[in-house]
Amino acid sequence: MARVQFDHVYKRFNKTEVVHDISLDIQDKEFLVLVGPSGCGKSTCLRMVAGLEEPTEGDIYIGDRIVNGVDPKDRDIAMVFQNYALYPHMTVFDNMAFGLKLRHFPKADIKKRVEDTAATLGLENLLKRKPKELSGGQRQRVALGRAIVREAQVFLMDEPLSNLDAKLRVETRANIIKLHQNIQKTVIYVTHDQVEAMTMGDRIAVLNGGIIQQLGAPQELYDHPANLFVAGFIGSPS
Ligand code: ADP
Ligand code: MG
Repeated sequence: MARVQFDHVYKRFNKTEVVHDISLDIQDKEFLVLVGPSGCGKSTCLRMVAGLEEPTEGDIYIGDRIVNGVDPKDRDIAMVFQNYALYPHMTVFDNMAFGLKLRHFPKADIKKRVEDTAATLGLENLLKRKPKELSGGQRQRVALGRAIVREAQVFLMDEPLSNLDAKLRVETRANIIKLHQNIQKTVIYVTHDQVEAMTMGDRIAVLNGGIIQQLGAPQELYDHPANLFVAGFIGSPS
């Protein structure tokens, strides 16, 4: 079970509070979008789930376990960043296999997992190529593949589409939705783009100034925005 919970979580950097009393219960297999303007604390929330930052106060649960203080590699998570740096000197296969090799998976197991994942993402004919021989969209799919090949229970995605052009963004958005339907894992997806949020999320948490302004299904937010901030943010053009 890969439920993720924030229980009265605060984060301060020195004296500056960037996350204020966040409680959030993300269901197993849910696609939860964290949306809000730049600097509102989205990445910090995600990084606390990943273990790249620790809460100043409060607890984060993955499954039934409080993960405060647990090393990132011992959390059952995979993360896709905005700057999906691939290893330039490695083939697509080796890029995807790298994390499995580090974790000492058997060779035959690595081969099968990489090939299965590549097939899911339409990368099966590109496994021998180097990143510079790929298009931007193909590179982005390799970055996704590198994360999902590990079969983590929770996927953390931080603005994974923001470096793509408009057409590729729409295409990759659809890819991620399909992928989520296929792999049935919990996804926490961070974006500043309300259109992305409204089209992708099962539920959306709207964040501003480190505070959750509203949590709900896209239609609920649209029909009944909780306050002027949500109304303005959801209603504004991207
Ligand atoms: P978002 O992802 O929504 O743009 P962030 O979570 O990256 O926002 O940042 C929220 C706030 O916290 C920003 O004001 C940012 O400058 C600050 N911040 C983030 N990380 C650190 C850090 N390691 N040290 C100090 N301040 C930070
Ligand atoms: Mg961010």
